[in-house]
Amino acid sequence: MISVEQAFAAIESTVTPLNGQTVTLSAAVGRVLTEEVRSDVDSPPHDKSVMDGFAVRATDIAAGVTEFRVLETIIAGAVATSEVTPGTTARIMTGAPLPPGADSVVMIEMSNLGYTDPTPETVTLRVEAEFTPGKHRMVRAGNFAKGDLIFATHHLIRPVDIGLLAEIGAADVNVCAQPSIAVLPTGDELVDCAQLPSGAQIRNSNGPMIEAIANRWGAATHNLGIGIDQVDELKQKIAQGIEHDMLILSGGVSAGTMDLVPKVLSGLGVKTVFHKVKVKPGKPIFFGVVEHPNRRRCYVFGLPGNPVSSLIGMHLFVSTAMRILTGNGKNRLRPQRWGAVLKSEHQTRGDRPTYWPARRCDCNDPRTVEPLRWNGSSDLLSLREAEGLIHFPARQSKYKSGEPVEFLPF
Ligand code: AMP
Ligand code: MG
Repeated sequence: MISVEQAFAAIESTVTPLNGQTVTLSAAVGRVLTEEVRSDVDSPPHDKSVMDGFAVRATDIAAGVTEFRVLETIIAGAVATSEVTPGTTARIMTGAPLPPGADSVVMIEMSNLGYTDPTPETVTLRVEAEFTPGKHRMVRAGNFAKGDLIFATHHLIRPVDIGLLAEIGAADVNVCAQPSIAVLPTGDELVDCAQLPSGAQIRNSNGPMIEAIANRWGAATHNLGIGIDQVDELKQKIAQGIEHDMLILSGGVSAGTMDLVPKVLSGLGVKTVFHKVKVKPGKPIFFGVVEHPNRRRCYVFGLPGNPVSSLIGMHLFVSTAMRILTGNGKNRLRPQRWGAVLKSEHQTRGDRPTYWPARRCDCNDPRTVEPLRWNGSSDLLSLREAEGLIHFPARQSKYKSGEPVEFLPF
């Protein structure tokens, strides 16, 4: 049985990114750039005023001139029609280009005018105490210049990046393709969440959870329904599933008589990369890959059926594969780990590293984390409050409050 670290390494050496595609900017959030993006404009495109006021020559102000002849009013989007010469000024609005000759702006509050007064022939300006040449002016290309590298390859596009991409003219962007992921929960006992289970039935909680997480990661998911524990039926559904970039199964991967998934996968040409990882919960996890003759390969994860096991498989391993698949690979591949300290003493059982639902505490030390009350791999209730998982290594079972631990935020 391999370790968690070995499982990460196996995923990293198996998965390769999808090809690139071009999408419109509005569809780009959550996607990763496959090439760098440079600006096609200067920002700002001209020297501009950052205040409503009067465009002046700093030398006039230095010489003590206070009465100015007003040449015109320049609004944002307009261009000056005359040059500011000694003793003259142009009324100017925020964002408007500075007129030729002017290098500074005196704000309207320092004039004998109000915001709504019409443009007069002359204006009296007082000088701000800290007036310096260039006051209230933003110089052309002060933010960045045409041709500057704005986003590097592999950048993950976030909502906050969209404004900047729009400013630099990135109406279409080249990004990694969106993975298509098929989801197949298996188990005779499962019924859809819309149904009331009877007898020994339980609701399929993994399917919706896996789909939700994969969607959040930017995948397009395909629900294959519930697979029953029967070879031919599984074969037919799995055959559909491996047509996608990834197939995520849950249930049927351990060593019980009805755990048919590994056998069916192998019969359909899925090569095992690993099966079973030293982790608690979630040991029987399966990872494999199937090559197709004329199209891209499919990566297959078989997650143990217990819902928290499935979740931990998603958070640790499927997420790592997703980061590579979506081109995020030059950045951090494995789940984030924060150095944290335990709020309360804690005891773990077993010989495997344990990932325990936990939350951050509202205490003085923001690194403090608290293991939640948790009944094991079938207990989803603790996740309601969980903000991540605490990693308890296998070598130790008793932890004191204040001890350092690793926290993996969701
Ligand atoms: P298995 O991995 O198939 O042996 O399943 C382990 C446990 O997880 C069993 O108690 C199953 O009933 C439960 N289980 C399997 N699949 C699901 C599912 N999709 N949703 C909720 N529980 C499940
Ligand atoms: Mg089962």
